[in-house]
Amino acid sequence: MHSAVSDGTDSPTELVAKAVECGLDVIALCDHDTFDGLVEAQSAGREMGLDVLDGCEISCLLYGASIHLLAYGCDQNNPELVNELTRIRAGRNGRIDAMVEKLNRAGLEISVADVLSMARTAPSIGRPHVADALIAKGYAKDRAQVFAEWLNEDRPAYVPRYSPDLIAMIGLVRSSGGVAVVAHPWARGRKSVMTAKLITMLAEEHGLDGIEVDHQDHDRHDRERLRVLAENLGLLDTGGSDYHGRGKKDHDLGVNLTRQPVYEEILARISAR
Ligand code: AMP
Ligand code: ZN
Repeated sequence: MHSAVSDGTDSPTELVAKAVECGLDVIALCDHDTFDGLVEAQSAGREMGLDVLDGCEISCLLYGASIHLLAYGCDQNNPELVNELTRIRAGRNGRIDAMVEKLNRAGLEISVADVLSMARTAPSIGRPHVADALIAKGYAKDRAQVFAEWLNEDRPAYVPRYSPDLIAMIGLVRSSGGVAVVAHPWARGRKSVMTAKLITMLAEEHGLDGIEVDHQDHDRHDRERLRVLAENLGLLDTGGSDYHGRGKKDHDLGVNLTRQPVYEEILARISAR
């Protein structure tokens, strides 16, 4: 799940309070390309009796496709990992000007300052903050509409940014002592890249630990196929809400869960590494 440290809308503390309220006993905070919300979330978790697994969702590239990698339990001070995350966030910030310029040219009145005011203190700025600025100006009703009209890869205001290679990042997560799980492998057009053959290669040759099977962007049929694939390959099969607060519909807290034995195996691997 995501907090306002990246493109969610709840602070880490609010997120923990809501998770307790909805009856969860463990959450993993996985903000995009930053660990910055974890200290606050874990301290709130200690106060409210909720375990918070430290995570991060890292935007990677494989064969030109954007693939997200969930990294659990990494050494957050690993210099190579710190460098990569810093570089990704710099790429996120660096494209805001160009996106705003494209929107201006299309006649939408929006400034870089408008976007930054939506991101507030978030160290990881994303397209959702651009969307929020357009919504605030009355150009759209929600983020989904802005992505569909302007910000998706095939839309007029899209600007690419730096993302590290997925295979290299799996290696870096593992060498930082973490567990590497591909997030929503078949969500939003990724199915043609993340084929069963490719997932097999990542598992057998590159040390991938698991795949997120239960996710709102996977229908029942895809979940079954991914679950069988994970079982055959000995991959961990996780579930997650991909909660973004008000930022994403149908991604309520607790909507998908990770089974306890899988969670315990994640913890065991983190300890072993
Ligand atoms: P970026 O991180 O700037 O590449 O923006 C991608 C992020 O935007 C994703 O990780 C999602 O969190 C969010 N996102 C993508 N599509 C949508 C959508 N249709 N509605 C709401 N949020 C979205
Ligand atoms: Zn997000």
